[in-house]
Amino acid sequence: MIEYEALLRLQDIDLQLMRYSRQLKAMPQQKKIAALDAAKRKLAGQLTKIVGQRKDAEIDVADSEAEHAHLLEVREEVRAKLNASETGYREISSFEAQLTSLAKKLEKVEFRHTDKMAALEKAQKAEKNARDLEAKLDEERVALEASFKQDSADIMAEVRKLAAERKQVVADLDGETLAAYERAAKRFDGLAVERLHGNVPSVCRVKLQPGLYGDLKKGPSIAECPYCHRMLVTEEVAE
Ligand SMILES: [Zn+2]
Repeated sequence: MIEYEALLRLQDIDLQLMRYSRQLKAMPQQKKIAALDAAKRKLAGQLTKIVGQRKDAEIDVADSEAEHAHLLEVREEVRAKLNASETGYREISSFEAQLTSLAKKLEKVEFRHTDKMAALEKAQKAEKNARDLEAKLDEERVALEASFKQDSADIMAEVRKLAAERKQVVADLDGETLAAYERAAKRFDGLAVERLHGNVPSVCRVKLQPGLYGDLKKGPSIAECPYCHRMLVTEEVAE
């Protein structure tokens, strides 16, 4: 390949590679995966809170069950004493008063227990919902990753093809031209080479003064644009 043709091809390949790179970054799956990860982080924070609430509710229920069991035991003891044959009248009325008081306490504990059970069920339900949502988000992420891999596989195949061609094209350039290209590519964000269309460079589009134009036409086929300092291919090249 003639060197200036190789240079122009190299420029096209690199611009295409840049486009593919942007395309990969902008693929809808990437944005969705990022949004999904944000949702997962938020959910993880909520879940920690919900699990804490559920554990507290469990402790509350266990406490109230223990209190209830204790009151029942005490009631049995008092009843046994009340029914003992040697119990006197005075003691009987004391035991009956104790039983009345125990019945009130039991009623109170049972009433509160209903509320505590309701709170526990609510917390368990919230936890289940959060865990279901977590599983759903995980599932979606797996699907998005698979879809990204599939869609990017087409682009990646093109990228590999271009990379192989790039090696061949680079072999047709001498070291100095390649170094100049790399410097210009860095400086001009990839758009390193322009070509002369008539007396107008294709990128900066500043019309060349007749003197400059004459000098460039007499010089080498790869020159430097006197205005923007990109590499300038002075041969007429078909688009
Ligand atoms: Zn220029």
